[in-house]
Amino acid sequence: MIIVNSITELLNATKKIKGSVGFVPTMGALHQGHLSLIQQARKENDYVVVSIFVNPTQFLEGEDLNAYPKKEEADKKICAWVGVNILFMPTSEMMYEPDELGIIAPAKRGFILEGSKRPKHFDGMLQVVMKLLNLISYHKPSTVRAYFGKKDAQQLALIEQMVRNYFLAVEIIPCEIIRDRDGLALSSRNIYLSPQERIQALKLSRSLKRATRLVMKKEFNVATITQTMHHLLSEIEVEYIAIVNRQFQPISEIEIGNTIILVAGKVGKTRLIDNLWI
Ligand code: AMP
Repeated sequence: MIIVNSITELLNATKKIKGSVGFVPTMGALHQGHLSLIQQARKENDYVVVSIFVNPTQFLEGEDLNAYPKKEEADKKICAWVGVNILFMPTSEMMYEPDELGIIAPAKRGFILEGSKRPKHFDGMLQVVMKLLNLISYHKPSTVRAYFGKKDAQQLALIEQMVRNYFLAVEIIPCEIIRDRDGLALSSRNIYLSPQERIQALKLSRSLKRATRLVMKKEFNVATITQTMHHLLSEIEVEYIAIVNRQFQPISEIEIGNTIILVAGKVGKTRLIDNLWI
């Protein structure tokens, strides 16, 4: 594995690539969720590139940009161990100039749910993903596949739309959500949780499990399922419970194969999201 800390070094390294590239963008503090993306990229491509970059433009004021967990040395070892070829670790100064041309998330999909709770988050996220995808595609390798987790479902939908709208020559590969044994969706932010808060946090995935059971019993009414979930989450500061179709439009009845149930809430000071694809 080579570690590259500048854009010039990255482009020098990717110039030598002959074959397909699997790209996994991350913000580091790698866990099993990231690992599953990297392993899938490893299986499906000749080369694997991972980026670790805590992108300042997708954090709002008052969010945890400066406190975001950093585990650089452990991350490097993990990447080497799973067979990453190139690990790209840029700085903000390399990625941005002071007065940049931006990207604005689309009005309907981009301003609901996460987009309404975290205004401008998706603009910053799309901006950095566009930059990273362009860098990885710079020397036009035969195929570029970029791997994203379904854990960030709305992010994934917006990236798919950006690739479509801007005709990017990249294939987006959605990857399954990885959970701890007790059901908690893995997240770099889980380390903020005290043992007590962790128990509370489990309610998010349990509410989704309950929703699954209701659907299995043929309860397809969105209002009924949402109400049951709200009841289960009464001790958590719920930001939203939303049941939408895969295009992120509101629905009143669950349609198997075309529905996502999303939940976001705060446990102590930690903001967590989770979802279920039905
Ligand atoms: P992050 O480092 O949080 O920006 O995440 C980098 C990538 O890993 C994104 O595509 C996430 O959706 C994905 N990811 C994060 N947590 C999980 C998880 N528990 N399961 C699957 N993918 C995940």
